[in-house]
Amino acid sequence: MERERGIGTKCLHLESEEGSFDHYGAISYPIYQTATYAHPGVGQSTGYDYSRLQNPTREQLEKVVASLEKGIDALAMSSGMAAIALLMEIFRPGDHIIVDADLYGGSIRLFRNISEKNGITFTSIDCYKDDVAACIRENTRAIYIETPTNPMMHVTDIAALAAIAGERDILLIVDNTFLSPYFQNPLELGADIVVHSGTKYLGGHNDTLAGFLVTNREDISEKFRFLIKTTGAGLSPFDSWLILRGIKTLGIRMDRAQENAFLIANWLKGQEAVTQVLYPGLPEHPGYEIMKRQARGFGGMLTFQVKDKEFALSILGKVRLIRYAESLGGVETLITYPYTQTHADVPEEIRVKNGITQQTLRLSVGIEDGADLLEELSDVFHKS
Ligand SMILES: *Cc1c(COP(=O)(O)O)cnc(C)c1O
Repeated sequence: MERERGIGTKCLHLESEEGSFDHYGAISYPIYQTATYAHPGVGQSTGYDYSRLQNPTREQLEKVVASLEKGIDALAMSSGMAAIALLMEIFRPGDHIIVDADLYGGSIRLFRNISEKNGITFTSIDCYKDDVAACIRENTRAIYIETPTNPMMHVTDIAALAAIAGERDILLIVDNTFLSPYFQNPLELGADIVVHSGTKYLGGHNDTLAGFLVTNREDISEKFRFLIKTTGAGLSPFDSWLILRGIKTLGIRMDRAQENAFLIANWLKGQEAVTQVLYPGLPEHPGYEIMKRQARGFGGMLTFQVKDKEFALSILGKVRLIRYAESLGGVETLITYPYTQTHADVPEEIRVKNGITQQTLRLSVGIEDGADLLEELSDVFHKS
């Protein structure tokens, strides 16, 4: 069997196009800034008719993402939420979906406010520990998870869940934003659909919104293609090019972010004001062994709890190099306060149950020099 290329190489080269030339031999894929395409003759097409259906730059990006996630098709959309909203259109009124309790706040908001209104019902459980099989009903069509979860970093065994779902012909959907395809490939572990906010690690520079749906099933790909053509949230040519460019450095960015995350996680562990450090790369993390089995790394996201609300707020007020901002997965280190930011719209009882309190802080560790990040944290923690 031919050896499979490493993912670092796949971020740069599509094997199917190896050695091929466009007109000028451009190394960077061109931006086809066009809405429509002329036909060579009656009944003929260049393969492109109108950019809502497909655009060459978007298609190039989709091929790269499909290759990284080992899917047969990927769709690039205008944001992660646009991708998840389109995904929900494959379900019908009366369908039931099991969702992880600890999800990106925007996903919870979409499910509760839009999908429920459209007749879809949800059961929200902790997929990393609860009995998922026991929650399956006759009309259950899908299980929707993130692993590690946002922000509590719970780790779910994807293959084990895929076995439960597969037996009953239920779709397993995994939002793989936190680890990116560089560290984890859910489709290989038995998932049917992978979701990404491309705004995060794939784009990687905190400058572009994007979202992806990836699948390895022909029937699902067909449904998605119909939906993107019909509802129209495909990613623009220029933004497609920005994400393509971001992906070229995905590997080195993820490696560096992870290296810094380890440094910071260990530093935080030594701080008196920190009551808990949630990073799945720490051997004491309950998901550590599963992560070692199903992922190639632990990522650059970590959450920690501090002694009280006042201390959490003082950290947010003092950071300079680290920026107090929503979002994650970019080259710049960001600190987020899930309670009032990403998870503000999640009902209080769910936040409490999930452990998101006014003492919870989340770091998206960037690629700065580790020593500078530690110096910043030391100042923030210890200087008044
Ligand atoms: C940001 C995010 C989303 C939503 O993506 P947008 O690009 O902001 O629309 C979905 N899931 C996760 C895990 C995210 O972090």
